[in-house]
Amino acid sequence: MTAVATTTDCRNDCAVQSDAADLSTIGPLTSVVGAAELVPLTSGDQIRYANFDYAASAPALTAVADAVAASVSQYASVHRGAGHLSQVTTRRYEQCRDTVRRFVRGRTDDTVVFTRNTTDAINLAAHCTPGDVVVLDIEHHANLLPWVSRDNGSARIVSACDTLEDTLAALDAELAAAPAALLAVTAASNVTGEVLPISRLASIAHRHGARILVDAAQLVAHRPVSIVSHGIDYLVFSGHKLYAPFGSGVLIGRSDWLDAADPYLAGGGASAQVSLVDGPDENCASTAWHSGAARHEAGSPNVLGAIAIAAACEAIVDLGFELIGLHEAELRARLDAGLAGVADVTPLRIFSDDLDRVGIAGFSVDGHTPRAVAEYLSDHHGIGVRDGKFCAHPLLARLGHTDGAVRASFGLGTDSADVDRLVTALTELTRIAPGKAHP
Ligand code: PMP
Repeated sequence: MTAVATTTDCRNDCAVQSDAADLSTIGPLTSVVGAAELVPLTSGDQIRYANFDYAASAPALTAVADAVAASVSQYASVHRGAGHLSQVTTRRYEQCRDTVRRFVRGRTDDTVVFTRNTTDAINLAAHCTPGDVVVLDIEHHANLLPWVSRDNGSARIVSACDTLEDTLAALDAELAAAPAALLAVTAASNVTGEVLPISRLASIAHRHGARILVDAAQLVAHRPVSIVSHGIDYLVFSGHKLYAPFGSGVLIGRSDWLDAADPYLAGGGASAQVSLVDGPDENCASTAWHSGAARHEAGSPNVLGAIAIAAACEAIVDLGFELIGLHEAELRARLDAGLAGVADVTPLRIFSDDLDRVGIAGFSVDGHTPRAVAEYLSDHHGIGVRDGKFCAHPLLARLGHTDGAVRASFGLGTDSADVDRLVTALTELTRIAPGKAHP
């Protein structure tokens, strides 16, 4: 892997890096689709795209795209057909549930529902949860809005404190003050990457008779999750943040609430028996609904999306979380050290504790709006970052960034040349007067 050329000025700045991190080159850990894609610069040149937006949506692993392509050739209707390929596809789809269950160490009797994404999965959970829910104010909107807008219980929002310990104590106090059905909490912040202690959160919930739902959208691709060992009742995540961008997500968890709730969508697949004569409702209709995953998967499912998720789970297990953790830690150390050397860059953190972080760095650049930074990085360096409020407006307000911030996030296809290019570009940007980044 060739490192990007650095300017003399940058080499001075990067001296900070060499104190803190080994500057030897680090390659991508595995192959992702589109890794060699070229993008245009305003200079008229082209450059390999440096994708720092994995937290929004990660590229497909080559292994995932291959698995989907192989399944497409045998694709046929799922659940309904007696034809050979319908049976193959149905079997494959149902096996995906077992692969997901193994990947997150689910209980054998947990229900695995394929959803559209994490947002959809949490809306399904909100539909099925009987009673109040406690949430922190640091959550992605996907883990806030479904709870505040329902009629089967209210949302009790707890403000995170400066330290994690105080935050855990505040959750404990809230759950002790009045019973709640559920604590719904993120496993890793989509703004700062800080990882929350799932087992401790689960113990707090369970001590007060509540269940726990873990939003693992930003965790499952980066750290091992065990429903059994961590004591998780419900776990949700998205395929597209797990290197499987084919339109599926997952809700896995205890079946009793799921089976007791009305189907999330009414329609074929969820219904076992439908009659339009002599039924109890005003149209004389009566419907018997399935239990299990089918109850909440009405309509034709996204089979290829589920196959993609299962393939991603298998590919990640093959790589191993030890190696994934090392790769991310090395790149994160390099990025942290590089950003620390850029005077005008201020990192975002929720907690003053020194927590484990996944490959997400939220930051602001003094004198430059987040949009100007993101446009400069794209237009002049071929780097894709996210700017804005990351669907976490209350958190950004808490952090004093009501105008948003910049987020650089990385993963398995990222290499040290990408990180160096980002640090070099930010260094150059901070030498340009605010407002002059687009000469
Ligand atoms: N939770 C977290 C922590 C997230 O980062 C995201 C996506 N940014 C979501 C939920 C929502 O995921 P999706 O858009 O796939 O529904």
